[in-house]
Amino acid sequence: MEFVPTLYPTTEEFNNPIEYLSQLRVQKIGKRYGMVKLVPPSDFKPPLSINTDTFKFITRLQNLSQLSLVNRNRLFFMKQLNNYNKAMKSMAPILTKPYVLGSQSTDKIYLHDLFVCIYKYFNKTIVSPKEHIMGNKRLWSSVNRSQDNKGAYLLEKIFKKYIFSYYNYLYKMVKEAPKTGLQSLLYNDETPRSLLEEEDAFEEDDFELAETDENLDHDVCSVCSKLVDDISVICTECSNAFHLSCIENTGKDINGTDWFCNNCIVGNGYYGFKEEKEFYSLPSFRKLAGYKAGTTNTELSNKEVEELEDEFWSIVNDSDRNISVKYGADIHNSKPGEITGFPTEEYKRFDVLSNERIDFEEYSKYFNHPMNLVNLPNAKGSLLPLLEQNISGMTIPWIYIGSKFSTFCWHLEDQYTLSANYQQEGFPKVWYSIPEDSNTNLQSYLKDLAPDMFDKQPDLMHQLVTLVSPYSKEFKKANIKCYKVIQRPNEYVITFPKCYHAGFNTGYNFNEAVNFTLDLWLKYGVEAAEDYKETNKMCVFDMNELMFNILLTFINHKKETTKKEQHISVVLARQSYKLALRAFNEASRASDLIYPKVIKTVIELNKPLVTENYKGKRVRESSQQYYIFCSKCKTICFFTFVLHKSQSKGASRKRKKLDLESIVDWNAAAKNNNWELFCLTDYKLHVEKKGDKILNDADFSNGDLLVHIRNSEEISDLLKAADLKLDKIL
Ligand SMILES: [Zn+2]
Ligand SMILES: [Zn+2]
Ligand SMILES: [Zn+2]
Repeated sequence: MEFVPTLYPTTEEFNNPIEYLSQLRVQKIGKRYGMVKLVPPSDFKPPLSINTDTFKFITRLQNLSQLSLVNRNRLFFMKQLNNYNKAMKSMAPILTKPYVLGSQSTDKIYLHDLFVCIYKYFNKTIVSPKEHIMGNKRLWSSVNRSQDNKGAYLLEKIFKKYIFSYYNYLYKMVKEAPKTGLQSLLYNDETPRSLLEEEDAFEEDDFELAETDENLDHDVCSVCSKLVDDISVICTECSNAFHLSCIENTGKDINGTDWFCNNCIVGNGYYGFKEEKEFYSLPSFRKLAGYKAGTTNTELSNKEVEELEDEFWSIVNDSDRNISVKYGADIHNSKPGEITGFPTEEYKRFDVLSNERIDFEEYSKYFNHPMNLVNLPNAKGSLLPLLEQNISGMTIPWIYIGSKFSTFCWHLEDQYTLSANYQQEGFPKVWYSIPEDSNTNLQSYLKDLAPDMFDKQPDLMHQLVTLVSPYSKEFKKANIKCYKVIQRPNEYVITFPKCYHAGFNTGYNFNEAVNFTLDLWLKYGVEAAEDYKETNKMCVFDMNELMFNILLTFINHKKETTKKEQHISVVLARQSYKLALRAFNEASRASDLIYPKVIKTVIELNKPLVTENYKGKRVRESSQQYYIFCSKCKTICFFTFVLHKSQSKGASRKRKKLDLESIVDWNAAAKNNNWELFCLTDYKLHVEKKGDKILNDADFSNGDLLVHIRNSEEISDLLKAADLKLDKIL
């Protein structure tokens, strides 16, 4: 596999990293390879500055073969078949392997692979197996080809023995379901349980759940969300509760001891890492991982790394190997000495202060260096300071403590920002990079490998739990470009916008990472917000707010700049103007369609266009309260939204009239009052869905309010001013 280019910036370039990375030459490399490796000038050697006495972290347990997309899907399927057979009190034996052996003992025939072949053959629909599958010569010869010609007759026989009854059950269920597709059989589960989760194991989020989640006692029906009563049943697998009246017609015997819900038979496709309960200190984890600071030789040749790559991917690809490793990932502590491994003003290592080993002057030169990852998000030219909010993991470094074969799965950076990752110490980290122009091919490859999984978990790739080997022959056939980096201590890896990346650690190591932006990123940020809306993923910051901040800063920008003021380039201002104008026009058009035709009442919140003018420091700690999220697509509403007071959900009539203008946290208000907040796109869909009702029901939109969040005159004044200033420059 080809390596990503390594760059060696001069001291001057390295001291101004945003400008350096914005050079056309560097940008071209970044776009082509997805990432670059950056080797600092030779005198840049920041000593690791972490407080080893207080720095503690928990690790996640990574079962490597379960991370493989294909293996995980096969294991799910085995579990689903077993649950089905238990639910039906069938005499079929419980499967312990996801495959059966063919004519030779090395000949594994994976049951799920047969299912997927058939699923794809019929365009992702479930057909009548009696009519369309059994005896369908053309189908079975197609399945046979995809299974390396193990024999059409044998494969059909295996289907009949192990899968037919289950498939027929799915078919009957789908036929009766109001919507088509497997996903229509699933209940919406806020706290899903993975079918691969072992008893007693608990997951990442359980810490918080234990305190906040009222549903933990399973007193709410998973179908209708209402309290369960005596006439209810609990699923053996996931322990969720169901009203008997809500699970009618599922054809399962509910009188026995075992009852299984649809999510556990159809499969919810959900997977998450388990987190360990105890904390590690750096010394205790180093010891566990067999690393001795100062003595262990962590140098590996490229050849040695290659051998480890082979071993890593063969473990991931082999469903029979059950190897789990520990990864202290996404560590975000907040006390000085625990936030970063870079030297900072707030935490000075004792041996530095006592001047035993390191010269303090030498040490302190790293405090304000822009490539100290604490500083990079705020470095000259980065746009994130304009947001005036700290976003953990994005603008504050997260630390990663790896052990041999611990891994980070395929993912894109949040809102398609760039990221910088620095290795403080330890064994090499291997990175794989899929550049932007291969994104589409990667996505179709993944969906082709596991079409049923993506139907159930459309945002699977946002979950960071999925690996596929870039070395497999299918991957290469899918025409996906992939490059690699071997990152060693004192080296940076910079990922560019929309670069899919994954990788693993060849042994113990200590890395940290942050996100940052360049001017070139802006259009990616807007694209990300649009993509997130499609997959209902929440943004961590508001692109519109950022763009209006850029314009405001640009307009107020005087010739004599103070140090703290951001310099906005004309190119960036012009691009922001274009994108902000487009967003504003779209919002105005959408609101004209609704008011006064559908909604009769408008309220004005007159929120300031931007919360605080840029003062060189961030003032807002929490964005969650401040942003208004659409209840449907989770997009952040910047201009307008519709407040829909649901009539049916038993809202109390006695409630005193709320002063809408004084609401600070709209999302909380919506939750407490059973309102829905619609972005205008979703309100339009909502109206269209009830199209017939509108004609017959004059009260349809009664009570719905169109809410202008910000003053539209103020917005258009700002846009005009920006336009004027840009015109002058031209
Ligand atoms: Zn119910
Ligand atoms: Zn269940
Ligand atoms: Zn929406």
